[in-house]
Amino acid sequence: MRLLEYQAKQIFKNYGIPIPKGEVAKSIEEVEKIAEKFNGKVVLKAQVLVGGRGKSGGVRKATSVNEAKKIATELFGYNIKGHIVKKLLVEEMLEIKSEFYAGFTIDRSSKSIVAILSTMGGMDVEEVAAKYPQKIAKQKIDPRWGLWDYNLRNLLKNSSSPKELWSDLSDILRKLYNIMISYEAELVEINPLALTPQGLVAADARLNIDDNAIFRKKELFEMREITEESEIEKEAIKFGLNYVQLKGNVGIIANGAGMAMATMDLIKIMGGEPANFLDVGGGASKEVVEKAIEIITKSGVKSIFINIFGGITRCDEVAKGIVDALNRQKIGIPIIVRLSGTNEEEGKNILKKLKNIIVVNEMEEGAKIAVDLAR
Ligand code: GDP
Ligand code: MN
Repeated sequence: MRLLEYQAKQIFKNYGIPIPKGEVAKSIEEVEKIAEKFNGKVVLKAQVLVGGRGKSGGVRKATSVNEAKKIATELFGYNIKGHIVKKLLVEEMLEIKSEFYAGFTIDRSSKSIVAILSTMGGMDVEEVAAKYPQKIAKQKIDPRWGLWDYNLRNLLKNSSSPKELWSDLSDILRKLYNIMISYEAELVEINPLALTPQGLVAADARLNIDDNAIFRKKELFEMREITEESEIEKEAIKFGLNYVQLKGNVGIIANGAGMAMATMDLIKIMGGEPANFLDVGGGASKEVVEKAIEIITKSGVKSIFINIFGGITRCDEVAKGIVDALNRQKIGIPIIVRLSGTNEEEGKNILKKLKNIIVVNEMEEGAKIAVDLAR
C-alpha cells in the first residue's frame, strides 16, 4: 500500500523528522483558511498516488491568499495521470537552498535493505541513477544486524554531501530506517529533502508498506480507507476478497490468483474484456461467493464467468453461494460456471435447474460463452 504524501508526512513527523507546516484541504474554503495562516505564501500539492506531480503541474506555488484560491480552483478535479485531485496539501512555502534524496528500499537479490543518499534531490531518482550514477550513494544494510554507524559513515562519505550536514543527515536517515522497520515498509523516501535556513526539512514524503503487514497497525486500516479510490474495492477488502476493478464488461470470479489471471487471459483471447480480477481465495465459503457476485454485478458487467478449480474449495459450497446470490439479489445477467474438482458433481447438480446459469465443462468454452453474451 502506498500512502498519500500527507499521511506519510504525519508518520515521519511522529518519528521526529522535520516536515513543513501545513494542513490538508478538501475545498476552496479550507484552502483559504490555511493559506491565511501563512499570509498566502504557500505551496499547494495535489494528493494523488502518483509520482512526478511536480512535472505534471500538481505542485504549485502561491504568494497571496487569492492566488492560492485560484490555484486550488484549478487543481481540484484536475487529472494527473488518471488520478483525480480531491485533496490538496497546503504548506508553508519553504526557502529551499538545495535538495537531497534520502531513502531506504529493499534489494531482494542481495537480501538486504539499501540506504540511498543523493545530492541531486528533487529529480526523479531513476533518472539520476541513469544519467549521473556517481551522484547516488548506496549502502547495503543487513536486516539481521540493523543500521550501524559505520553504514551511515560509508554512505555519507560516498555521497559528496557537505560535511557540516552529516550529523543532521544521519539523524534523519536513522529515523527513516526506524520507520522502514517498524512499518514493514518496502520503500521510505524523502525527495526532496530540502535544505532551508531552518535546516533539513522533508518537503516530500513517500511510504510504501508491504500489503501483508497492514493488519499489524490499526492506523493503516484507516489510512487505506482513504487511499482506496473505489468504493467497490473497499468493500471487497472487508470480505477478504482479492479484487481489482478493470475496464471491461465480463466479470470474473476464480479461486487462486493464478486461476484468476488465466481466466482473464482467456477472456482476452476470446475477444472480450475482463471487468475485474477477483480471487475468492482457497476454501471460499458460500457467503464469500455470494459477496463476490454482489460486488461484481455492482460494477455493471454484462456477464459473469465463475471459474473454480476445487481443491480445498468445494464446488458444492460455491454452487450454494451462487444460489444464495440469485435468491437474494436481482441479477439480470447470465452467469457461466465451470466447476472442476472437489464435489464437482454435487455442485453441478445444485446449479442444473437454475435460470440464467450456464454450466460448462471446459474453461475455454465458458470464456467464449461469457464473451459472446456480453456483446
Ligand atoms: P513529486 O513531483 O510528486 O515528487 O512532488 P514533490 O513534492 O517532490 O514536489 C516537486 C518539487 O516541488 C520539489 O522538487 C520542490 O522543488 C518543489 N517543492 C515541493 N514542496 C515545496 C515547498 O514546500 N516549497 C518549495 N519552495 N518548493 C517545493
Ligand atoms: Mn518528490
